[in-house]
Amino acid sequence: MLTLGGCKPKSLYLHIPFCTTRCSYCSFYSEPETNWKGFREAYVSRLEQEIAVVVQETGGFETIFIGGGNPGSLTCEQLSRLLLAARSTQCREVTIEMNPDTFSEAFFPLFEQKLVTRLSMGIQSMDEEVLRQLGRNATLEDNLQAIALAKKAREQYGIDLSFDVMAALPGQTMQMALQDIETVVSLSEAGHISLYCLTVEEGTELARNVSKREVQVWDDDGQRELLQSLWARLGQLGYEHYEVSNFAREGNVCNHNLVYWDLNTYLGLGSSAASFLHSGNESWHYSQNQDLKDFAEGALFTGYDKEILSSEQLMEEYLMMALRTNRGIEKKHFSDRFLLDFDSLFSNTIAHLDPLWYNNTSHLFVLTEVGWMVLDEIVLRLCLQIPQPLDRH
Ligand code: SF4
Repeated sequence: MLTLGGCKPKSLYLHIPFCTTRCSYCSFYSEPETNWKGFREAYVSRLEQEIAVVVQETGGFETIFIGGGNPGSLTCEQLSRLLLAARSTQCREVTIEMNPDTFSEAFFPLFEQKLVTRLSMGIQSMDEEVLRQLGRNATLEDNLQAIALAKKAREQYGIDLSFDVMAALPGQTMQMALQDIETVVSLSEAGHISLYCLTVEEGTELARNVSKREVQVWDDDGQRELLQSLWARLGQLGYEHYEVSNFAREGNVCNHNLVYWDLNTYLGLGSSAASFLHSGNESWHYSQNQDLKDFAEGALFTGYDKEILSSEQLMEEYLMMALRTNRGIEKKHFSDRFLLDFDSLFSNTIAHLDPLWYNNTSHLFVLTEVGWMVLDEIVLRLCLQIPQPLDRH
């Protein structure tokens, strides 16, 4: 049972777990929408009721993100209802994800009525054959039309645009990956780009095809070389690399995602949504474990499992998230949050890291792009220095 326990999270995530079809690499929770037609309204209705209760308790949210799945599988009217329930005067950013194949002018009222300020679209590739290999429902033609429509929405309603692009895809060359970036940027003039390398997740169709050797994926060295080139190109195109996978032109960072990376509190509602909450001396996660049917038919706030974090787990999560951004770790903030001195804990470990991986000043520890290439290794080495149990005296 989800309860806020006095916490007033400033960010809200809403999960819409319907997709037209399943992409071969996808490990997110989503269901093919055609099988669940009858449940969409019940799903929206429960979500709407949960939102109304939490808004009363929190007083509203500063950022809202509707993701999926594909929020475009709902109607404009259903999305409006969710947003009308969630919005308040303090809201400064509302992002909605849309898949190119279902995006249309039918959703423009969301922008016109200022219910949405930011549109995020998964383009992934601008190559027909690669899109097919990924099992994307969108064709190249869908992607081109969706980019043109998104640009029209920005011109008419002043919304911000973000596009997801994938790299290190089967059948893709470095030249093709660079060309994808160039094409998406030049056609959309987007303020924000998210760039992800394809990862092979267990249990996916892609993983099965890779193990049968029907699909070949990039090796680690190839991926690193590719990322170096793509990151450099995005820099030349005027984007600040502000998080490992995210790039923004001035004034276009995603404030909602910064909440995750700063490990601030957020609430996630909907099947499979996750939350991070904090109150008094306790921090905890909620994960929503009901499938679509149980969620749609369940009582309000049921199905959320609570996991309380120890002080050590909290510090590990903080290191993992904060080092993803180019803000890095502000040492004063670290000592205020954990009542421990950053340098006393980690200076020995840092002294043994490659100096090309980081910048370390009296007030800041931040990773370089070279460091981001080995982010997991750096975080692991720092985490090994966290005393178990954490001794603050
Ligand atoms: S559209 Fe997104 S959530 Fe849906 S199957 Fe594809 S990758 Fe997964």
